[in-house]
Amino acid sequence: MSRLSVPLNQGHTAQRAFEQQISHPPANLPAPNPTKSFWINSTPDANPLAAEGSDGTLTSDADICIIGSGITGVGSAYHLSQAIADGKLGDDKPFTAVIVEARDFCSGATGRNGGHLTPAVYKHFHDLQKTYGTEQAIRTLDIESHTTDALLKIIDVQNLTGAVDLAALGRIDISITQQEQSDAKTDLKEAKEAGVDVDSVEILSEQTMNDKYGTPYPGFRFPGHNLWPLKLVTELYRIAKSRTPNFALTLHTRTPVTSITPASSSSSSTIPRRYIINTPRGPISCSYIIHATNAYTSHLLPHFTGPEGIIPVRGQVIALRAAVDRDELRPAGWVANESFEYWFPLPVKYDGGKEGSKKCPLVILGGGREVATSPFEVYEDDDSVINEDVSLVLKDFLPGLFEGKYEKGREPEMEWTGIMGMTKMSDPFVRILQHALRRLVF
Ligand SMILES: Cc1cc2nc3c(=O)[nH]c(=O)nc-3n(C[C@H](O)[C@H](O)[C@H](O)COP(=O)(O)OP(=O)(O)OC[C@H]3O[C@@H](n4cnc5c(N)ncnc54)[C@H](O)[C@@H]3O)c2cc1C
Repeated sequence: MSRLSVPLNQGHTAQRAFEQQISHPPANLPAPNPTKSFWINSTPDANPLAAEGSDGTLTSDADICIIGSGITGVGSAYHLSQAIADGKLGDDKPFTAVIVEARDFCSGATGRNGGHLTPAVYKHFHDLQKTYGTEQAIRTLDIESHTTDALLKIIDVQNLTGAVDLAALGRIDISITQQEQSDAKTDLKEAKEAGVDVDSVEILSEQTMNDKYGTPYPGFRFPGHNLWPLKLVTELYRIAKSRTPNFALTLHTRTPVTSITPASSSSSSTIPRRYIINTPRGPISCSYIIHATNAYTSHLLPHFTGPEGIIPVRGQVIALRAAVDRDELRPAGWVANESFEYWFPLPVKYDGGKEGSKKCPLVILGGGREVATSPFEVYEDDDSVINEDVSLVLKDFLPGLFEGKYEKGREPEMEWTGIMGMTKMSDPFVRILQHALRRLVF
C-alpha cells in the first residue's frame, strides 16, 4: 500500500545500531578518491582552494595546528582570527596557525552534505528528556539553535547571503506514519511544557499538505534555511586569513596527518612546542592542536573508537531534476521519515541544467540508509563508493511522496557519499578552546 521506496519507523532500530557493543577498529584516513559531490564538482571553479598549499614547502612550525578543513576547522580559524583581532588573546600578540587537510579543501562532510541550515526545534525532545533529563534535553536543542543563529549572523554581518546562496525556504517535516506523527506531537508538547520556544512551529493537516504541496501526509512547518556549504567555508577561510596581521594562517591541502608525537623540549619559539604532527610531506611542530577531523577522529585519537566515541556513518545524496517547475513544486526545505530523508530545491539560477528540463528545479536529496545491509551505514568510512541499494530507493523516494511532481525512474544528475561523525547520544564532542588559548598568553 505504501508508495514509498524506504522502510518506515526505523528510528529506534537505528539507535540500537549506534549502541551495539561490538569492537571496531579506529577510522581509516579519508579515502583518497572520494565520489564527486554537487557542491565540490558541479562546476570547475566550485572549490577554488581545492589544492591550496598542496605542493612546495610545508610549514614546519605554528602556534596552532588545525587538522581538517571542514566547517569545524575553518570555523575555528575564523573565530580565532576574530578573537585575536579584538585583542582578546593579548594586545598585539601575533599568532601563527596552519590548517592541514588530508584531501582537497573542505572535501569531507561539509563538502558533501544536504545543505540544510535548520535547527531541530523540538525533534526528539521526549527521548532526550527521558534519557538525559529536562535540563540536558533543553541544552541539546539550544546547541542547535545557537549554532544556526550564529552562522546566520556571520552570513549577515559579513554580507555573504548571495555568495553562499542562502535561501530562507523554511522547513517542513513530514510525518508519514501515525506513530511518527504522534511522536512529533509529543516532542512538541513536552518541549513547550519545558519552556522551549516552539511558537514558530505550525501543524499542517493532511488536507493542507495535499492541497498545497501534493502529498497526503501531515507535517510541521517552522523557519529554516538552505545554502551551499562549501561556499560558506571558502568565504570564512578568506576572512580568517586576511582579518588581522597578527594572525598568520596557512592552509596545506592533500597533506594527511598520519600520527602525532611529543615535541622535543628545545624550541626557538616563545611558546613551548608540545606536539609534532607527522605527514608524508614532513613534520609540523606546534603548541596546540585542534582536531576537526569529524568522522575520522579515532584515526589519530583511538580512544574515540566505538560506541562511546565518534562513529563514522556513511550518508548518500543525489541531485535529482524535478518533473515540474518551481511554482508547482512549491520550494521548501523538507525532511521526512524520522529525518532519514531530507531534500530541497536549489535556487532558481541552477534550474537551467539539462536540455529539455529547463525551469524544473534540481533537488538535492539525501537519505536511504535504512536499506543498507551494513545496518544504517554505521561504521562505514569510505566515501569513494556509492551504495547501490541506497541509490535505488533514493531515486524513487520523491516520485512516491509527491505523485506527478517527480518522474519515477529518472536518473540523478549527480550522486555521492559523505561520512558523518555521529555519537550515540547525538551530541557533539567539543573541548572549549578559549581556556587552552588563555594559557598561550598568560
Ligand atoms: C551526506 C551528508 C548529509 C548531511 N546533511 C547535512 C545537512 O543537510 N545539514 C547539516 O547541518 N548537516 C548535515 N550533515 C552533517 C554536516 O555536514 C557535518 O556535521 C559537518 O559538515 C561536519 O563538519 P566538520 O568540519 O566537523 O567535518 P568535515 O567536514 O568532515 O571535515 C573534517 C575534515 O578533516 C579531514 N581529515 C580527517 N582526518 C584527517 C587527517 N588525519 N589529516 C588531515 N585531514 C583530515 C577530512 O578530510 C575532512 O575534510 C551531513 C553530512 C553528510 C555526510
